[in-house]
Parts: sequence; C-alpha cells; structure tokens
Amino acid sequence: MASTLKDKISALFAGRNGLDMWNYIIVAVDVVLIAVSMLTNSYLPLCIAFLLLILFLFRALSRNLAKRQKENMFFTDAAKAIVRQHKLNGMRWKDRKTHVYKKCPACRKVLRVKRRKGPKDIHCPYCNNDFKIIIRIPGELDKEEKEARKAEARAKK
Ligand SMILES: [Zn+2]
Repeated sequence: MASTLKDKISALFAGRNGLDMWNYIIVAVDVVLIAVSMLTNSYLPLCIAFLLLILFLFRALSRNLAKRQKENMFFTDAAKAIVRQHKLNGMRWKDRKTHVYKKCPACRKVLRVKRRKGPKDIHCPYCNNDFKIIIRIPGELDKEEKEARKAEARAKK
C-alpha cells in the first residue's frame, strides 16, 4: 500500500515543478500568517495564507518548468547579490582607514583602492577600463595645505 501511494505521489509530480526555493518560502510565510491569524483572531492573514496556498499548488504542480526555473534563478541571484553586498559592507568597514572602494564607471564593478590622498589612475582588472579618481580624506590635510594654513594664520597676526 505504502509503495503504491508513493508511486501515486511521484507520478503526480513527474514532469512538474514540485518544491523549489520559492515554494519553501511560501510555506514558511503561510505558517507565520496562520500563527498571526490565530494570535490576533483576525481572518485577513488567513485569507492571504489561503491565496498563497493556491499559488503554492499552482507552482508545485506547474508543468512550465522553464518559467519556474527562471523564477527560481531570480531568487537565487537576488540572494547572492544581498550576500555579496553584505560582505562588501563588512570589508569596507574593516579597512575604512587603509582603503577606499570605487565603482568602475564602465562595468560598475567595485574596486578596492589604497587610501592615499590626491588624484590616482585606476585600471579596472575586470574590463580593462582606465579612469582617474581623486581621493579626498576629510579631516586630513596634506603638507602643502598645512603650510598654506600656517602662512594664512601668520598673515592674520
Ligand atoms: Zn570595469
């Protein structure tokens, strides 16, 4: 009996989308919505949960695998982008005193550049674009500026 039920289930899902990342998330959101509905005695979260359940069934039983996979790719790409941004923020914070992060104007990739005051020629290793940046360090003056300020102060006296 058990094997025939198993066979029936696998036959039902043959050539269909089944469980993917989006569907796991829908199930998780549904559980939360049902809990909220019970805690607040409100039917609205339950209605949303029901609509999501229909969406879940539609996606799980869908035979349009190409489209469902595309949706899944969108999800994994978005998740990867968030992780990448988070790592970058961590790195930025960690070496904020020694390096600056600049976007290549051609390919939009973020490049790590040694933090030295003044103009700098940058070569992008991703797209071989060459561009110039000027690094300004707030609260930090270079020698010439310091001399100029001193001279100014002396002139005032
Ligand atoms: Zn580039």
